Amino acid sequence: MLTSHLGRPTEGEFDENQSLAPIADWLSKQLGQEVRLVRNYLTHAVDVKPGQVVLLDNVRFNSGEKQCDATLSRKMAELCDVFVMDAFGTAHRAQASTYGVAKYAKIACAGPLLVHEIENLENALSNAQKPLLAIVGGAKVSSKLALLEQLVEKVDTLIIGGGIANTFLAASAINVGKSLYEEDLILTCHQILAKAKAHNTNIPIPTDVGVGKRFDEQEPCEIKSVNEIADDDMIFDIGPQTVEEYYHLIKQAKTIIWNGPVGVFEFPAFVGGTKALAEAIAESEAFSVAGGGDTIAAIQQFNIADKVSYITTGGGAFLEYMEGKELPAIAILQERFNG
Ligand code: AMP
Repeated sequence: MLTSHLGRPTEGEFDENQSLAPIADWLSKQLGQEVRLVRNYLTHAVDVKPGQVVLLDNVRFNSGEKQCDATLSRKMAELCDVFVMDAFGTAHRAQASTYGVAKYAKIACAGPLLVHEIENLENALSNAQKPLLAIVGGAKVSSKLALLEQLVEKVDTLIIGGGIANTFLAASAINVGKSLYEEDLILTCHQILAKAKAHNTNIPIPTDVGVGKRFDEQEPCEIKSVNEIADDDMIFDIGPQTVEEYYHLIKQAKTIIWNGPVGVFEFPAFVGGTKALAEAIAESEAFSVAGGGDTIAAIQQFNIADKVSYITTGGGAFLEYMEGKELPAIAILQERFNG
């Protein structure tokens, strides 16, 4: 029996558009045998003979999935002799199909993808070959704060980009004009910089940037030194001098972690910084791990997927893992194993 979640349907309601029916068809073709889709698996015995595969429909149709309801979790556990957890992407959620079922199943263990994810992420973090370099870009310091605080203690170099770098520039008393930044996190940036100093971590700050006047896809890019930013400028990318400096740092690294674009890479005039760093990662011999929706979109756009050592399937789960948080669906497997 296989199962999964899909989308965010309303619990307790069947929704044709979020059914796993297309997955059952796909699996049937791949396996060269019929994979039946089963909807009433909580109320009727599932008829599955040795050698057969059935697909249990979207776990998020079940009432109590999100709340990790004990009755639902037990019902799911009773369906099987062995529960194999292989959904790294939802391992940060304690739900009936990720945590509850693992708690009550006769035997619960990790599947190959989950093992592979943990091994690769460990090789990029705790068992990393040094120098270890991380690139953390994206819109906001606030959404990556826990990640930055964790990485600053572990990496040798922390490259920041996007709105995050803008806030660090503002913290360095640089006028960022109308750029996206978080004024209320300037003090936090100072604390991160102090922590970096204490751990001997290099956090380079951009020396030149690509600016525009409007957040618009057609907006042209003007390169400016960070000391020349006008009050009506918006920083949308790192500049060529900064790219050059970061390129050399990336070349020296033996391990690279990448999450988040260093500019508004969706706009053609501001794709340069993210593209150059992505290409540096692609050229590098280092063990590289990348993850997050925008990062994967950038990797696809630049066609370098086969040159990144490991692309994680986790978005939120990847970030929480890198933040050093315990992922409940992994913790319960460890608990069962130890107990
Ligand atoms: P996040 O979801 O936090 O990883 O942020 C990704 C988004 O940040 C992308 O859509 C980028 O376009 C955006 N971004 C990157 N740099 C900037 C910047 N300097 N100003 C505004 N948005 C940015």
